[in-house]
Amino acid sequence: MKKRISGIHHITSIVGDVQENVNFYREVLGLRLVKKTVNFDDPRTYHLYFGDKNARPGTIITFFPYDNAREGKVGNGQVGVTSYMVPLGAIKFWEERLSRFNIDFKDSSRFGEKSIEFTDPHGLIIELVEREEGDKNHWSLDGISPEVAIKGFSGAVFYSHFPDLTAEIMEDLLGFEKLGEEGDYIRFKSSADIGNIIDIKTTSRGRGITSLGTVHHIAWRAEDEEDLLEWQRLARERKFAVSDVRDRKYFKSIYFREKGGILFEIATDGPGFAVDEDMDSLGENLMLPPQHEHLRSSLEETLRPIE
Ligand code: ZN
Repeated sequence: MKKRISGIHHITSIVGDVQENVNFYREVLGLRLVKKTVNFDDPRTYHLYFGDKNARPGTIITFFPYDNAREGKVGNGQVGVTSYMVPLGAIKFWEERLSRFNIDFKDSSRFGEKSIEFTDPHGLIIELVEREEGDKNHWSLDGISPEVAIKGFSGAVFYSHFPDLTAEIMEDLLGFEKLGEEGDYIRFKSSADIGNIIDIKTTSRGRGITSLGTVHHIAWRAEDEEDLLEWQRLARERKFAVSDVRDRKYFKSIYFREKGGILFEIATDGPGFAVDEDMDSLGENLMLPPQHEHLRSSLEETLRPIE
């Protein structure tokens, strides 16, 4: 039987001011800050993870906040839209909430689903779509009840340099099922009930520049390390330049760039975010991997404190 990716593990983007980033995703969207660590490849920079109450794969958005990054451009070769699912009937609540925070939004619709689209403080395009599937998120904050809270990713929209080639990879390598075409979009679905819908835009948005305000990469879920190695083998068989397995402490990963220019990662579900702090206090302290622990005192001085 053909191997299928179950869905999105996480999506990682480049943003600016760290406090603006936290205020938006934690206070406006009501996500849980589940990990405060540093970029393992550049420990002078934060790496923040936000998710649902249980920090499940499929709900995790992560950020590299840079104070001096040059402006990026959302376009071809990138994940163009990060899409979240909210319970049926919840859009009205979000329209009111975004208005209260003076955030402009517009209505949109694809494949018969109603959604609203807006940008975060650094230019990332975010979308909320009503979906019945997916467990409710019981991380409640400031009037966001589980009845309306963001459940996790509904999926993403891809802006590819070569939409046909990206579509082929989604079906042929990752095992997504093609659901149909409508207007400028082709829709694909995976087997999970969250982070499972990918729309590929078939018309060009112009070349993207990956920097401030753009998505850096999208990660797909592997069950465990054995599964990850199997994906590595399959991607190498198709001549992708796949990285070795990297230890990201909360998961193990491989990386490769698909033919349409989008950077893909495949990451294991385990060990998860409770591997170095209690589930109840996720995100409260700065967590460092062993290789960077010796930098702690200097990092605690130089990294801007987060309120
Ligand atoms: Zn990643």
